[in-house]
Amino acid sequence: MSYAIVVHGGAGPRRDQEHGEAARAGCLAAAEVGAAVLAQGGSALDAVEQTARVLEDDPLFNAGYGAVLNADGDVELDASVMDGETLLAGAVAVVKTVKNPVSLARLVMEKTPHVLLVGDGAEAFARAQGLATIASGSLVTPLQHQRWLTRQGSTHGTIGAVAVDARGQVAAATSTGGTAGKLKGRVGDSPLIGAGTVADSRWAAVSCTGAGEFIIRVGLARSVLEAVRHGASLARACEEAVAELSRLGGDGGVIAVTPQGEVGWAFCSERMAGAFVRADGQRGTFFERSP
Ligand code: ASP
Repeated sequence: MSYAIVVHGGAGPRRDQEHGEAARAGCLAAAEVGAAVLAQGGSALDAVEQTARVLEDDPLFNAGYGAVLNADGDVELDASVMDGETLLAGAVAVVKTVKNPVSLARLVMEKTPHVLLVGDGAEAFARAQGLATIASGSLVTPLQHQRWLTRQGSTHGTIGAVAVDARGQVAAATSTGGTAGKLKGRVGDSPLIGAGTVADSRWAAVSCTGAGEFIIRVGLARSVLEAVRHGASLARACEEAVAELSRLGGDGGVIAVTPQGEVGWAFCSERMAGAFVRADGQRGTFFERSP
């Protein structure tokens, strides 16, 4: 059985070449971190968490440090993780004082009987678990503050990782600051299992990015998984799921892996940054749709 990991750094409108190169490099660097976990026999779950943490810490991406700001000028973070081996999942939403929400999502999965904790409750749980919390506001970068003041710049984005380990088990993780200027308390698809994230080691692991209000309504991640379950190739499953998103008027994309080590992605937005690494040494990046 061979391992593989795919990463995305968010979908959206076309950006300049400089941004494209930086996003590709950031995604590949994060994918390499996950691939190193997998190469040492680590689990897909560990790989996607470690990879997501790297992307959360990179201010280039809309997750963790560098997330977009809501209408009030605050960061409110959403994240989720799902283990395809156990079908357990954990998620958090509207979190402001946790540097790496993906790790808090994993703690929800492993230490509570719940799937989703939000707001104050999620932050109290983080403190109770000894997860380092930070001052509210310290995740706001000068660039995002400037964008909030001028109401200009990138409106959304997200990070995600899907992996299959050497045992053929899959996992998925997604983390985001959501959409710029969103109403306080708005929750997108990223922490919703079946919408932004899903993993089942019989079929696939999927992470999504794009217009959350549309992704929720089409159940985007689960629609990829269900297509694979009903016999579609991974590439076709990704394409058809994204076509349905587009039909409704939403933009965005998906990344996916199968337990057999196939990697796939598709997007209907102009851009979706991403990268993949496979056990056979193949690696690569993607960014824009061909014009
Ligand atoms: N899906 C995210 C949300 O709606 C944003 C994005 O991926 O662009 O919160």
